[in-house]
This record gives sequence, structure tokens and C-alpha cells, in this order.
Amino acid sequence: MQTTNTESGGGDGKPPTPEEIAKKLADLMGENFGGKVNFTSVPPMGFTPDMEEPSEEVEALETKERNYDFPYRPRDIKAHLDRFVIKQDEAKKVLSIAVCDHYNRASFMQRLEEAEPGKARDVEFAKQNVIIVGPTGVGKTYLVKHVADLIGVPFVKADATKFSETGYVGGDVDDLVRDLVNKADGDVELAEHGIIYIDEVDKLATGGSERGRDVSGRGVQTALLKLMEDSEVSLKSPMDFGGQMQAMFSGGGKGKPKRNMVRTRHILFVVSGAFSGLEKVVKKRLSAGVIGFGAEAADRVEEPGEAFQHVATQDFIDFGFEAEFIGRLPVRVVCDVLKADDLFEILKDSEGSLIKQYEREFAAYGIGVRFEDGALRKLAEQASVEKTGARGLVTVGERLLRGFKFELPGTSVSELTIDAELVDDPDTALAKYCELGRNVDVAKIAQEVAAFTRDFASENGITITFNEDALVALGEGMAASGETVLQHCRRLFKDYPFGLKLVLKNGGGSAFTLGADAVADPDKVLSDLVVRSYRGAEAGGAG
Ligand code: ADP
Repeated sequence: MQTTNTESGGGDGKPPTPEEIAKKLADLMGENFGGKVNFTSVPPMGFTPDMEEPSEEVEALETKERNYDFPYRPRDIKAHLDRFVIKQDEAKKVLSIAVCDHYNRASFMQRLEEAEPGKARDVEFAKQNVIIVGPTGVGKTYLVKHVADLIGVPFVKADATKFSETGYVGGDVDDLVRDLVNKADGDVELAEHGIIYIDEVDKLATGGSERGRDVSGRGVQTALLKLMEDSEVSLKSPMDFGGQMQAMFSGGGKGKPKRNMVRTRHILFVVSGAFSGLEKVVKKRLSAGVIGFGAEAADRVEEPGEAFQHVATQDFIDFGFEAEFIGRLPVRVVCDVLKADDLFEILKDSEGSLIKQYEREFAAYGIGVRFEDGALRKLAEQASVEKTGARGLVTVGERLLRGFKFELPGTSVSELTIDAELVDDPDTALAKYCELGRNVDVAKIAQEVAAFTRDFASENGITITFNEDALVALGEGMAASGETVLQHCRRLFKDYPFGLKLVLKNGGGSAFTLGADAVADPDKVLSDLVVRSYRGAEAGGAG
């Protein structure tokens, strides 16, 4: 889609619009290559948001002229989803087709409304709203979000459980539409082509004895039903009295009239839920031999989640949904349970893999982390036990890396390899890395301590050497005191120039090796040295 908004930008401090950028590029091409090269701007999709500053309040922007051609085919959408979402092949296909059908029809209606408004009003069409069935963490939200990202429409998600029938206990379903307008930075027309995703709709089922929200669940179904059909929602919430007063008094100002209603006709609704218990309903129907399936089919259904593949409208009704509600959701998508192999693939191949996130997190501390396949397999196996789909990966990953994220930043460890052994026994591996961090630190501390001993030698003619234990102790003391190595040494050994010179005078030598005891109690060690040197001197004098 291209907008025909050609307001000037750039000179007035506003960021240039995409059209201005396109024009500048075209001019540049023309200057450099004459007429031989053309620059065409390719819009990311049919419903790109305008690059306006977000409006402070939900206020309709003036309607821009748009070209509503929907440029995607189902294959394109599926290819995009394949980059991020592992498995769920059938779901990706069904969703891609539904999305294309929905938006192609929206373009068709848009053109018809412009050409023959009367005729457009009479056209009947069934919307391709989608119901996704699948357990938690298998990619239901992820699928829909990536569709919205690709085609450039606003996307909002909410849980069905937060709504109440009348709007005064929980949220009001109309808020979803207003949220879409917010997401579209106040661009009502774009919001009218957005996607509303409602999870946990299974909790709205009524009638079933052990589940459901009884009457209020039915009320929310009815409210959603209205939205899913062709209805209009006011931009101002009925709860927003201030906004309503403002709208009343500010009406009729300059320019084109602002829109204050949002039409839901072209909003795509996707609802989802785990629907536990629905499988039983499906199996019961299958074994009763209703609607073309016989007991044989029911017997064949053995894999977990497989019965969902046979779900029919009647099953949703038996589960506790209003027939009208389920009737507005003609596209059924079933997401599979993710097995350990799938979780491995998610870690290894998905563009949105957690592994990339971990790499970024460790990189922030200057640590390069590398995951071996053996480790990924083990993590995937552990995650699959959690039974929370890909969310289990976050749980096990967090558990595994917690200690490393706490202990390693600030040490000199700069490489971390996560292998199968580390996954099996993270504590031992962490202890090794900590030791490594400390060893290398000792080398670093020794370097800095050398500056102190050099100065000490040149100022006092006395050589001090610290043994390794002393260096470790100095490193610990330095970290605890927040001083630099030099500051720390100067403070601890401030009396040493005088004391050691006495020792030297008493014939106690000019070179000293200090151990951890000198770091722990410098004064005591010094006084021992001095006392001993006097004794030595006396003994020497006597002898
Ligand atoms: P739900 O099915 O409960 O809506 P989500 O789509 O929110 O689950 O999945 C949670 C997270 O798990 C996603 O953000 C994504 O990172 C990851 N994830 C889930 N399923 C998949 C999948 N099939 N492929 C890749 N990543 C996935």
C-alpha cells in the first residue's frame, strides 16, 4: 500500500516520511544514473502504518488514501513462519490461507466500497476468524504474532478470563479494539485491519459440570460474538468520562472530521485455548459413530492430541460453547504437542531461539558462550518433562545458567562452553570455571602488584615478593575493599618502608617474601620481622 500523504518533512524538524525518503532516493538515482535506473519503493505490505508521531490520546488520524492490495500468498506467509516456528506445519498452512483469504476479501470490499458503496453494503460474507486448539507453549501466540509482524498490522492479545460480561468487573471486550487503535498510533483505518488474539477462550465454556464460568462465560461469548461480526466500537471507552466530555466540546474543529468509531468488519479474530477435556468429547462422538466416523476411527486415535484433528463444531458446542459463537470461528487450527526432538530443533534452528538470547546476555559481560548440540539435546529432554511446551526451555535454561550468570561476570573468564557434561553436572563445571577465573586473575593481580614492588624497591632499596597465596588474598581483599591493587597494597603495607629499613639496618637482609599471613595481618608480620632482626643483631653482636 502506498499512502498519498506528501506533507513536507525534514525541514521542519519532523522525521521524513517513507515517501519523502523514496523521492530523495529516486532523485539521487536519477542524478547519478540518468534514466537508466529506476527506484521503486516496495511497501512492506498492504496495511503499513503511517510514520506519524504517536498521538497523545486515542484520536483518529485523518483517513489516508491507501492501496489495499494484499501482496502475499499463503506460501509466502508460511515461509515466513517457517523461519521462527518449528513444526506446526498444518497449523501454519491453515493460518496462512485464512489470513490471505481474510485480507484479500478486505481489499475487495474496500475497492467495492469506493466504487459502489450501495452494493458493498449488501455483500454478505463469512469472516475467516480462527480458533486454535493446542496446549500451552506450542507456538499459538508466536504464530499469530509473526503473521501480524509480516503483514504490518497491529496485533493485540488478551486472556478471555479477564473479561466480564458487562465490563464493570474485569475488562470490556471493546477495549481490545481501542487497544488496536493505540497500537496503530491512532490510525483507525489501520486498526480496522488489525488482529485481535484472545487466549484461554476454553475458560468461557459453560454447561460442563467441572469447568466453565457458568452465566458470565456465556455473556462474554455474546459480547465477543458481536465484535467478531460487523460492529462499531466507540473510540472513547464508556468509562472514560473525561474523554467523552472533551470529544463533545472539541467537535467541529479544523480540518477533516475526525473519526470516533472503529468498525470491526475487517479485524481478524483469533481465539485459542488448551481445551482440556475436548479430546474426550471428540473421542466419545467418534466412538458413537456420529458424523461419518465409526468406532474404528476412535480406536485409531491414540497419540496425545490426535483426537483434536477430528474436532467438529458439535464437539465445541458439547464442550460448552454457544453455537453462534463457534459458528463465527470457521477456521480450525490444531497445534501439536512439542516433543523433545522438536524442542531441540527450536533451540538449534529457530530464528527466535533462546540460545541467541543467552549469547547476547553473556556477551554483555564480555563472555562468549557456545552451546554444543549434546547440551541442547539434554536441555530439550529436560524441558519436555516440564510439559509446558517451549516454555519449558526457558525454565531449564534459566536453572542451568543461573549460577554461571551470577559467578562469572567480573572474573577473567571470557569463553564458556556449554556441553553435555556441563548440563549433567553444572555445579562441578561452575566450580572449574570459577577456579579458572581466579587463576587467571592471580596473573592479572601479580602484574599490578609488580608496580607496587617496583616503586617500593626504588624508594627503599628493598625487594618485596608476594607468593601466590598472598596474591590471591590481595585479590580478595581488593575486591572487598573496592580499592585498586596499588591503593590496597599502599594501605596494607604503609609501615613497611620504615619497618623493613630497620630490619635491613639490623642485618636482616634486603629481600622479603610475603605470604597470605602478611596480607591478613601486615602489622603482626612486620613486627615479627623487626623483633627477629633485633634478636639476630643481638646474637650477631654477642657472637
Ligand atoms: P502458546 O502456545 O501458549 O501461545 P507461545 O506461542 O506464547 O505459546 O510460545 C512461548 C514461546 O515459546 C514463544 O515465544 C517462542 O519463543 C517459543 N515457542 C513456542 N512454540 C514454538 C515453536 N513451535 N517454534 C519455535 N518456538 C516456539
